[in-house]
Amino acid sequence: MVQWISGKVVENYRWSESVFSLRVIAEPFHFKAGQFVRLGLTDGTEQLLRAYSLASAPGDTVLDFIIAKVNAGELSPRLAKLQPGDAVNITQPASGFFTLDEVPDGDNLWMLATGTGIGPFISMLRTDKPWQRFQRINLVHGVRHAADLVYQQQIQQWQQQHPGQLGYQPVITRETIPGSLQRRIPQLIADGQLETALDCHLSDCSQVMLCGNPDMIAESRTVLASRGLAKNTRRKPGNVTAENYW
Ligand SMILES: Cc1cc2nc3c(=O)[nH]c(=O)nc-3n(C[C@H](O)[C@H](O)[C@H](O)COP(=O)(O)OP(=O)(O)OC[C@H]3O[C@@H](n4cnc5c(N)ncnc54)[C@H](O)[C@@H]3O)c2cc1C
Repeated sequence: MVQWISGKVVENYRWSESVFSLRVIAEPFHFKAGQFVRLGLTDGTEQLLRAYSLASAPGDTVLDFIIAKVNAGELSPRLAKLQPGDAVNITQPASGFFTLDEVPDGDNLWMLATGTGIGPFISMLRTDKPWQRFQRINLVHGVRHAADLVYQQQIQQWQQQHPGQLGYQPVITRETIPGSLQRRIPQLIADGQLETALDCHLSDCSQVMLCGNPDMIAESRTVLASRGLAKNTRRKPGNVTAENYW
């Protein structure tokens, strides 16, 4: 039996046609940055539940979820229609091991996301942990269209607050926008463009976190392994920690 608490939508902020931030208040609960809960809506007598990463930081009064509307999907189009005051169920407890506690120390931390896979990284960057643990953090966000580049102002603020510590590289595959790269993330790792753009070297002193599209994750893992960066597990600490969204 799933345990859940009731949440109330306070804002449904639309970043683009297909990406929105659902902001929800609920009784406070414990989670670590990078973890996820399941959001649910009642469909007749059944709950329709899907996993969503928390993009807010632990302790924030409003829970923040960055969600892609999958047009043929069952739940996300319904979440996209929610308005302030609407109810949404939240499963308990928060789960997942895609947290900085699972990541060994290193010189630099690479946060590589596609689409709404940036959510857990936004949550982590909202805490002190990555800033205290890593001299350099590189946030890479791959999207199809520039409109899907969420939280750019917040990212710029972090860059000003932590001079030289945060590199940010947008990757836009279907538009040519100055300052962004255009190829897929695994190709950009393979040909060295990502390291050049961010002026930071990927080495066995790097920690890499990957989140989002499973193809990006699988292909990036292969390229990183060829560079000597191994999968990180609890049993065998390595350099690459990942979370697939489907
Ligand atoms: C641990 C975990 C955390 C997740 N966190 C998030 C999150 O923070 N934000 C989020 O948008 N999604 C997240 N997801 C995906 C989410 O759980 C749903 O799968 C997604 O919202 C689609 O649900 P649906 O009912 O609309 O579609 P379904 O009817 O369940 O169709 C699923 C299909 O939708 C596609 N899909 C799933 N997720 C995405 C996505 N994010 N972008 C594009 N296509 C997708 C895939 O092709 C998948 O096979 C997460 C998944 C996991 C496993």
